[in-house]
Amino acid sequence: MKIGEILRRGVFSVSFEFFPPKSEEGEKQLFETVSQLRKLNPTFVSVTYGAGGSTRDRTRKVVQRIHEEVSLNVMAHLTCIAHRKEELVEILREYDKIGIDNILALRGDVPRDDPDFRPPEGSCKYAVELVRLIRDEFGDRFSVGVASYPEGHPESPNMEWEIKYFALKVSAGADFSITQMFFDNSFYYNFIEECALAGIDVPIIPGIMPITNYKQIKKFASMCGAEIPQNLVEKLEPVSDKPEEVAKIGIDFAIRQCEDLLKNGVPGLHFYTLNRSKATLQIYEAIKDSVPIRDLSV
Ligand code: FAD
Repeated sequence: MKIGEILRRGVFSVSFEFFPPKSEEGEKQLFETVSQLRKLNPTFVSVTYGAGGSTRDRTRKVVQRIHEEVSLNVMAHLTCIAHRKEELVEILREYDKIGIDNILALRGDVPRDDPDFRPPEGSCKYAVELVRLIRDEFGDRFSVGVASYPEGHPESPNMEWEIKYFALKVSAGADFSITQMFFDNSFYYNFIEECALAGIDVPIIPGIMPITNYKQIKKFASMCGAEIPQNLVEKLEPVSDKPEEVAKIGIDFAIRQCEDLLKNGVPGLHFYTLNRSKATLQIYEAIKDSVPIRDLSV
């Protein structure tokens, strides 16, 4: 089912993001998580893609298993910097063949563990080129989502730049967007306003990262340029070595963040799960009465 069409009908979206595990044990853990989160009737779930292309087979395998064995609507992430266009088309053909309707078109980052990495000849330099490639080769076969950055992508010198290139991805054919994680909703609200002024009219779903491990989140946040509010830092720092206390503070924070987003009429909530279900289940349980009814037949 195409996510763009669901959102256009005004259906509120709840979604969960997973990554393709490296081991059999990891895969078992992931599918336990999927089966727990399935109970929340997600609009879709998504599976990430290694920017260097290393997860090509693993991402496809997990996407296919979720689609065929769990019967959930799946979105496959696809990054373009490490592939030639022909390879990207090949990957997309495989998704077409197995009945996947949704692609998150991304550029990806240069692999950190490979300083000699050079994009192959004929690859797409930016996500906008992947969006164009999908539309040129496959027309409306897929619903295409793109990433957006309420605090600005680390490579963008300012928000004007950020919005200009985001708008290009939308004019190239993206029909919705999911944001990078953020912890201060005012960044999202300002971003939405700026996007509307720039004529960007696709749904922009906020990405929610429940904090369960302070050291890990500090690293993630600094890598992607997300600011952790000072009052949250002050609560987390003193308990940073006590995982249960960190998770309690992180989950309480995410509940309040989601409640505020819901009050302000967001089109959906996308949870970064890190392949675990506990935090997301607790957050959903706390906010479920405020989540709009999700009738896909409307
Ligand atoms: P782009 O949209 O191409 O933008 C990258 C930067 O280039 C921005 O600063 C933009 O303003 C600038 N830019 C764009 N076009 C031009 C141009 N023509 N000229 C000059 N500058 C330009 N990474 C993964 O590896 N795998 C994943 O599965 C994955 N999933 C993600 C899911 C979400 C929801 C998000 C928010 C991010 C995800 N990422 C993933 C991270 C993403 O790959 C990185 O943030 C990457 O650095 C940028 O990807 P993009 O698609 O946003 O790039």
